[in-house]
Amino acid sequence: MTNKPIYDELQGKFRAHFGRYPEVVAYAPGRIEVLGNHTDYNEGFVFSAAIQFGTFFAVAKSVSMGCRLVAGDLMREVTFSADDVKPPPFGYPLSKGGSDTWQNYVKGTFAGLAERKPPAHGFDGMFLGNVPLGSGLSSSAALEMSTGIALAKLYNIATDAVMLAKIGQNAEHTFVGCKCGLLDQISSLAGQENRLVKTDFRSVSYETVNMGAEACFLLCDTRTKHALADGAYNRLRESCEQAAAHFARVLRHPVNAIRDVSMTEWAIYKRGLPEDVANHAAHPIGENERVLKGAKLLSEGNLAGFGAVMFDSHESSRVLFGNSCAELDAVVDAAKKIPGVLGARLSGGGFGGSAVVLVHSRDVETASAALASAYAATFNTPCDVSVIKPAAGAYLV
Ligand code: ADP
Ligand code: MG
Repeated sequence: MTNKPIYDELQGKFRAHFGRYPEVVAYAPGRIEVLGNHTDYNEGFVFSAAIQFGTFFAVAKSVSMGCRLVAGDLMREVTFSADDVKPPPFGYPLSKGGSDTWQNYVKGTFAGLAERKPPAHGFDGMFLGNVPLGSGLSSSAALEMSTGIALAKLYNIATDAVMLAKIGQNAEHTFVGCKCGLLDQISSLAGQENRLVKTDFRSVSYETVNMGAEACFLLCDTRTKHALADGAYNRLRESCEQAAAHFARVLRHPVNAIRDVSMTEWAIYKRGLPEDVANHAAHPIGENERVLKGAKLLSEGNLAGFGAVMFDSHESSRVLFGNSCAELDAVVDAAKKIPGVLGARLSGGGFGGSAVVLVHSRDVETASAALASAYAATFNTPCDVSVIKPAAGAYLV
C-alpha cells in the first residue's frame, strides 16, 4: 500500500476520536503536469502523472443526519447536516483567512454525490494526507477524489471516473471559488505506477503510457506568483479564441478550437492575425503536437527524446506564450547544465509556481542539490525541490 504509515495513523486517530472503526477508507494522490501547457481549455492533449503523495479519507455511517468531519492533521472538527450542505456565503474570503476552508472541498464533493442520490443518513469522516498544500501538486484534488470514492461507496452511489472528476471540479467551482479544469482530478484517479496519463480534453478520455521505472521527476517550486497573472491568463485565453475564429474562417476543414489547427497550417495561414495573438496561439498548437510526439518517443523507450520535447515546451512558453518568468527560466537553464537531467519545463499556469524536471532515478540526489544551489546563486534562496515518481492513482482500500 502507498503511504501505509499515514493509513495507520488515520485508523488510530479515527478510532480514538469517534470510538469506532471506519467502514470505508479511500486513497487519492496528488499530480504533476508533465507536458501540454494551456491545452486543456483548447480541447487538446495533456500528459500528467499521479504522484506518490496522497490523502486517505476514512468514513462510517452515523445513525442521524448529522455529519462530523475532522481534518486529521489539525484534529479540527466541523459539523453539519447531510441534508443541508451549502457553499459558503458569496464573497467569503475562501482561500485567504476563511476558517477551516478544507471543509469546502469535502462538502462540495458530498453535495455533488447527493445530487445523484439524496443521503439517508450522515457520516463520521476524517482525512489525512501528505501532499504539500498549495505547492502545485493538487492536494485539493487528492482530498476531493478520496472523499468522492469513500462517500460513493458508503452511500452506494454508482460513479465512473469522469463523473467523479466533474464532481470534484464542480466542488472547486462552487464551494471553493477556483475555476479549475479537469486535469487534476483525472490524473489523481487514472494514474499508474511508472506511467503517464495522456488525456484528450475534447472527448474527456484518457489512456496511460509507460515511462519506465527509471524515470523520475523533480518538482522545483519557486514560491513566486507574479502580479497580473490573472489578467494575463485571461488575455492568453482570448488570444486562443480569437485565433481559433480566424483559422475557422481561412481553413477549409472545421475548426472548433485551436486543437484543430496544425503548426504547418499556423505558419501558412496566420496572416491577418496580430503578431502577439498568432504567437500566443502557436504555443497550445505546438504543445498538442509535442504531446503526440512525446507519446511516440515513450513508446520507443526514448526518455531522452521525451526530455528534449519538455525543453522545447518551456522555450515555447518563454518565447511565444510569455507565461514564464525569471525564476522559472533560471530553473530550466540550470537544469540544462546538470548531468543526468533529461528535460525541464514550467508546469501549470506559469508566471511563477513550479517547474518540472525529468531525471534518471540514479541522478536524483545530485540533480536536486545542483538545482537548489544554482537557483540560490541567482535568487539568494533555494527553490523547494521534491522528488516525484509516477505512482498509482486513487483506490478504495
Ligand atoms: P493545491 O491543490 O495546489 O495543493 P489548493 O489551494 O488548490 O492548492 O488546495 C489547497 C487547500 O486544500 C488547502 O488550503 C486546504 O484547504 C485543502 N486541503 C487539501 N488537503 C488537505 C489536508 N490533507 N488537510 C487539510 N487541508 C487540506
Ligand atoms: Mg488545487
